[in-house]
Amino acid sequence: MQAYIGGIVPLSTVDWPTNVCTAIFFSGCDFRCGYCHNKEFVGFNDELLKDLKDIKKEILKNSGFIDAIIFSGGEPCLQRQALLTLARFAKKQGLKVGIETNGSKPYSIKSLINENLLDFIALDIKAPLRKEIFEKVTQSKTFFRATEDVIENIKQTLDILKGNQDKIQIEIRTTIVPGLIFRKEDVLGIAKDINGLNCRWVLQPFKSDKGTLDQKMSNIKSPTKKFLEDLKKVCQKKYSNLRMNIRV
Ligand code: SF4
Repeated sequence: MQAYIGGIVPLSTVDWPTNVCTAIFFSGCDFRCGYCHNKEFVGFNDELLKDLKDIKKEILKNSGFIDAIIFSGGEPCLQRQALLTLARFAKKQGLKVGIETNGSKPYSIKSLINENLLDFIALDIKAPLRKEIFEKVTQSKTFFRATEDVIENIKQTLDILKGNQDKIQIEIRTTIVPGLIFRKEDVLGIAKDINGLNCRWVLQPFKSDKGTLDQKMSNIKSPTKKFLEDLKKVCQKKYSNLRMNIRV
């Protein structure tokens, strides 16, 4: 079997902060967030097609130094069969499995959970789950799918996670981008959407040092830590049960 794989980082401590892991970046994404810094991984380019046998060899090579594999992207859930194959293989090696996802493919996430293949999920909630702002932030509307459908799928992902929150470590991540997703009411909207989920919610600042998918966004300045802390305070005032972190 082949899959679009953009790259592999043999040893990572940032993608899954509590573990040393190999990060495997699937290529291809259904969103086009202007601030995306993995811009080389959003398309399906034939030169990125890799045989899964070679990816498994890479996992084996690192397995003495790592305790986990994390699948990232792009959007790893778009290539469900390859994702499941590699997750099964990692589990057989005694490794934990994590995934970084935009949540638009609940069926893939459910498949991983049904086979007990998922230990950690970092779910990007990029905007409140309302059509106008979500579409603006993610550019998720395509010829094939309406934004309403994408939002519905993300709500399904949240429901799946609520039903499995006792066995999976869940991290929600939101990137704060000046001029795009930074208003108190929008961040409070996300807080409302995830309220009741047993998770840690991480606010992280937009950064342009690795470039941006939309060139025009490369001039935007990162928000300060203080700005993020103020947003955190506002959210925790209204939703005191939220466990929030700032990661700069
Ligand atoms: S930031 Fe957006 S476009 Fe980039 S990989 Fe993530 S979901 Fe896809």
